[in-house]
Amino acid sequence: MQQQERAERAAQGARHAERLAAADVVAVALTWVDNGGITRVKAVPTAALPRAAAWGVGATPVFDFFLPDDSITGGRFSAGPTGDLRLLPDLDRLVVLAAQPGWAWAPVDRWTQEGGPHPQCSRAVAARLTERLAAAGLTARMAFEVEWVLAAAGGSGPGFVPAMSGPAYGMTRLVERSDYAADLLRALAAQGVAVVQFHPEYAPGQLEVSVVPESPVAAADTAVLVRTTIRAVAQRHGLRVSFAPTVVAGEVGNGGHVHLSIHRAGRNLCGGGDGPCGLTKEGEGFTAGLLDRLPALLAVAAPSVASYLRLVPSHWAGVYACWGPENREAAVRLVTGSVGEQADAANVEVKCMDQSANPYLVVAGLLACGVAGIEQGARLPEPVYADPARWSAGERSARGVVRLPQRLEDAVAAFRREPVLARAFGPELADTIVAVRDAEIARFAGVAPDDVVAASRWTH
Ligand code: GLU
Ligand code: MG
Repeated sequence: MQQQERAERAAQGARHAERLAAADVVAVALTWVDNGGITRVKAVPTAALPRAAAWGVGATPVFDFFLPDDSITGGRFSAGPTGDLRLLPDLDRLVVLAAQPGWAWAPVDRWTQEGGPHPQCSRAVAARLTERLAAAGLTARMAFEVEWVLAAAGGSGPGFVPAMSGPAYGMTRLVERSDYAADLLRALAAQGVAVVQFHPEYAPGQLEVSVVPESPVAAADTAVLVRTTIRAVAQRHGLRVSFAPTVVAGEVGNGGHVHLSIHRAGRNLCGGGDGPCGLTKEGEGFTAGLLDRLPALLAVAAPSVASYLRLVPSHWAGVYACWGPENREAAVRLVTGSVGEQADAANVEVKCMDQSANPYLVVAGLLACGVAGIEQGARLPEPVYADPARWSAGERSARGVVRLPQRLEDAVAAFRREPVLARAFGPELADTIVAVRDAEIARFAGVAPDDVVAASRWTH
């Protein structure tokens, strides 16, 4: 990076620092997400923001090899304890945190000391894929649906006591936690997060919030900010939260569904077309590109052993590699929108992902697979209008509907075979993702589901 750019960044940092100090902000939390889906942080006092903006904050590259339990694995591209990266805050995304008085937040890009993006920076990879899309004249809009379980603060024990007893989608549940919910919505609004909907979800103590779609990197940033806010508001109410894929073995889990649409020259390619169910030709190619590669994508989008305890048929988690309009049991649901708004509102919801995933890797992976589908002119199979779990095995195979990987091992094997993702992530990051997944698999080898769930319940 040129000295000129450093000076501009420092000046931008100084402008923000002045504003933050006037708002009584003491420090700025700078976050990134590791390959195991944990949001890691380094903070700087507000007065140190200009320097951090220009030169970044030091961080070891070994964070790339962290597991959710904070153990550290090795890999071909690990330098062990040596080396240093610079965490460069994106000040365009800086916000004052409404539920953490005295704090602001900004996501970071991880740079090398030489002054360019670290090859394993997932946020930079997501930005690069977005640029690749732009070079083809396309833009993408994405949003993560955030589901979480609210628990009574039961100390730091591994158990789980839901913070509400009311039924799924029940008004009772909302009444029980009315103040919490209002504080949460207030905090999100104060932080500029545009919420579309909030509701009690199916599983005990479960809630969900959905937000408006944004550009891919912004959507991943928002996912981090929304989860941080949900946690912070809960903390202020003496509650605790879990975003884990499985909170109770056998129950419906927490998904991390992604809604996405692609656009050319302001036109939504997911609706108003003459392809299947209103998709345009390119919309079909994009959707087929990601549908074809879901097994490999799961290695980034359902990256924990606990993820596969969530991916159970008939739990709305989308465990069959098929697509269908408004089908909540298809891994890819085409959301058509209501008559009159379809050309605008249509989008594709990918349901099999969860929030133990790094959202930057998820958006990057989806873009890479979708674009490959467009380039190859991929076509979709017949849409599915039912829950494939209700069909016999013979019926599923006659219709070509297969189950997604049922173990992390199988997703990793598919990932290793998928050149599109290897190319998108680059050799270093692709190799490290496999190393971290292999270590996660080894960590839970032979461990019973209940124990996997207990060990994973409070990490995400
Ligand atoms: N909780 C479900 C899941 O694990 C999703 C429910 C819904 O369709 O929103 O993905
Ligand atoms: Mg939901």
